[in-house]
Amino acid sequence: TPVTIIITVIGVMAIVALVTVAVLQNRPLPQKYKYGIVMDAGSSHTALYIYEWPAEKDNNTGRVEQTHLCKVKGPGISSYASAPVKAGESLRLCMEEAKQWVPGKRHHQTPLYLGATAGMRLLNMANSSASDKVFQAVEGALQKFPFSYQGAKIISGQDEGAFGWITVNYLDERLKQGLETRGALDLGGASTQISFVSDNYDGSESPSNSVTFRLYGNDYNLYTHSFLCYGKDQSLRMMQAHQSQAGPATVLDPCFHPGYTATKNYSVLYDSPCVSDRKPKDAPDTFTHIGIGDFLQCQAAVKSVFNFTSCKYSRCSFNGVLQPLLQGPYGAFSAYYFVMNFLNLTDTSVPLEDVKEKLKRYCATNWDQIMQQHPEVKLKYLAEYCFSGTYILTLLTEGYNFTSESYSDIKFIKKIKGSDAGWTLGYMLNLTNMIPAEAPDTPLLPHP
Ligand code: AMP
Repeated sequence: TPVTIIITVIGVMAIVALVTVAVLQNRPLPQKYKYGIVMDAGSSHTALYIYEWPAEKDNNTGRVEQTHLCKVKGPGISSYASAPVKAGESLRLCMEEAKQWVPGKRHHQTPLYLGATAGMRLLNMANSSASDKVFQAVEGALQKFPFSYQGAKIISGQDEGAFGWITVNYLDERLKQGLETRGALDLGGASTQISFVSDNYDGSESPSNSVTFRLYGNDYNLYTHSFLCYGKDQSLRMMQAHQSQAGPATVLDPCFHPGYTATKNYSVLYDSPCVSDRKPKDAPDTFTHIGIGDFLQCQAAVKSVFNFTSCKYSRCSFNGVLQPLLQGPYGAFSAYYFVMNFLNLTDTSVPLEDVKEKLKRYCATNWDQIMQQHPEVKLKYLAEYCFSGTYILTLLTEGYNFTSESYSDIKFIKKIKGSDAGWTLGYMLNLTNMIPAEAPDTPLLPHP
């Protein structure tokens, strides 16, 4: 009957309306994100990182991700000591890119930090007014952009080590879950950091090597040390300065390939506080740098940059620096990764003796052949991989005391879950208070 039809239609409409309301209520709201920008002003280059996290999870657990990386064209800002304005200009393109990656509405509330590491530490030591001028120029350039500029500064070696450790363990979700942590090994051009938690280390032996945190309800007593001048570029200078102590016109270098030859300037080699006091008197302007590609001799030459003679602590790594017993797994990143990845040596389950054997063969390979095999690689990097690989193995084993057994505790890594390993993420998490000291409240269970 018509009445039945009308009732049925009304019923169906009511059901449709109810379902629509339910669906609309349950539909997730469009996700809103917040952003943060950190610039890593390293010794050889500057990189801009953009991080993103869900807006409502500001103070919550482990949801910050790197969404973009922009590599600044040209050298690190410390190289612009004699033309500081150019240091600021060099950052412009990446800053423009950042404007595209952060939605316009969020620009003003997006914090922007610049942290400079060992390249600027060295420039500041050698010429503090030049370093101030570089910062002024950088500051002027960054303030022209619509972000919330939070300053540019040199970060300390302790911070660099500690924030690298926080980054790795945050991305691994080890902090949130209170799991055993992973040590962090960072190799730059001008300094290198080692940071780890060791059970028998309480920090009192050397306060400058310890950092304590309370994160997600757990206390951490972190050992950290940054070796200034022991990044791979400065350590190469130190080794070459050692080899050319007498100022000869020819330097035979076991860490460069046979057939490699180049004319170099003494003044360029010695233009760094890491070696300046050793500059030979009466040296000619230039020397001929000749490769002989001998891994064992290279190892011995590299070892000469470490000092093992005195230690006033219970145990030391080198140069009289305290180092507690190594413990747990490690992540080795930045130049550790670039070099070992190029050399196809990132697999640490390969016995250390075999790794050395492979490197020995690589170092002994003729320079012409190396260039032919890698036409795409920058010649400066290519010429140095034999040295860099030897330096890394020597630093790890002789310097930090990794053994054939503990070598496999190291993982050479570039990224963790899409974010680069490095100090920048930890730095931002700290400055934006994004890692709570206490574990977030767990919801109370309803009474039965
Ligand atoms: P920094 O600029 O202080 O962060 O240092 C980075 C180091 O990594 C410098 O020694 C660079 O020369 C080095 N580096 C960057 N990219 C590569 C690469 N593809 N191969 C080898 N070394 C690299």
